Amino acid sequence: MNKNIAIIKGDGIGPEIVNEAMGVLDAVAARFGHTFTYTDAPMGGNAIDAFGVPLPDSSLETCLASDSVLLGAVGGPKWDSQPSVNRPERGLLKLRGAMKLYSNVRPARMFSDLSAACPLRPDIAARGIDFVVVRELIGGVYFGEHSTEEADGEQKATDIMSYTEHEIRRVAHVAFQMAQKRRKRVTSIDKANVLDTSRLWRRVVTEVAKVYPDVELLHMYVDNAAMQIVRDPSQFDVIVTENLFGDILSDEASQITGSIGMIPSSSMGEGTRGLYEPIHGSAPDIAGQDKANPIGTILAAAMMLRYSFDMAAEADAIEAAVDETLKAGIRCGDIWQEGCALVGCREMGRQIRSRI
Ligand code: NAD
Repeated sequence: MNKNIAIIKGDGIGPEIVNEAMGVLDAVAARFGHTFTYTDAPMGGNAIDAFGVPLPDSSLETCLASDSVLLGAVGGPKWDSQPSVNRPERGLLKLRGAMKLYSNVRPARMFSDLSAACPLRPDIAARGIDFVVVRELIGGVYFGEHSTEEADGEQKATDIMSYTEHEIRRVAHVAFQMAQKRRKRVTSIDKANVLDTSRLWRRVVTEVAKVYPDVELLHMYVDNAAMQIVRDPSQFDVIVTENLFGDILSDEASQITGSIGMIPSSSMGEGTRGLYEPIHGSAPDIAGQDKANPIGTILAAAMMLRYSFDMAAEADAIEAAVDETLKAGIRCGDIWQEGCALVGCREMGRQIRSRI
């Protein structure tokens, strides 16, 4: 197969980690007989420096014309003083909107060789952590109206949270279809005891569940879910939730698996094109020092193969290569432990490539 991949290296450690992910994709292409063609799409602080805006039209066009987009990370202290309409993150929001990416998927999986990095009690970690958070990405309070006004001699701020049935329905389908390929259990998280948006959420998700009789549906309040994720994460298979709850719970979920440097994410809309990236930022504190862990980005590339290109065997090959590299005791600084070999970003990429 021939696939065109838009590459957004971004800022900070972005170029370092994306280069390693591209190296791994090249190894996959060589082994399985595919051709991956890469086109650079500048975005973030580097694009502000070169073009005056965080997402130039030419980059957006490259992404929209691609089969999928691989992103490192954007942002850094150099651009913190930019006006908010021209900050690096604005490029990412604009890209998500233009690509109509309404669902974000983040796996929370603990590699058994990294259980020492898990902050949970060993007996809880031993039950295993392997679930996925499906988060609605372009609705809810983040996309509602925001205002601050004077009222009765003090400031009053308002953020509107709203959801329509179709916004809920389409992300619910993503969650149920994902559960069908996994352990067939969806936990829908809301605050239906308080919020109207949550009551609508619960009703629509329950309706969608009827299309997937092979998948079990459970409902859980968000406060309880935050507790259950640390009390017994093994009970979850697929979590589906709205934007704000998903933002918070997916960070909690990723933290219990160990390092932030290990976790990929995918954002998808209609069709097969997606945006794939690690969950972490541009890590300016270690940028340019060959210290970044590229595994989150490499696993994001594996998700791209699995979900956008329908290349399951190829994705399995990447995930197995990561597993074997960790089993061989090879570690970047963020996941290093006693008795393991400490390697940099480039060597980690080389080790994983050599196992494809
Ligand atoms: P961060 O995720 O960049 O870093 C947090 C900590 O984790 C740092 O100590 C960093 O060194 C470490 N870390 C992160 N990724 C790592 C990796 N792959 N290997 C080893 N260590 C790693 O978060 P931050 O410091 O809050 O943000 C830095 C910049 O990134 C900010 O400008 C922020 O806006 C931006 N950011 C971008 C994205 C994105 O592009 N999607 C996401 C989050 C933050």
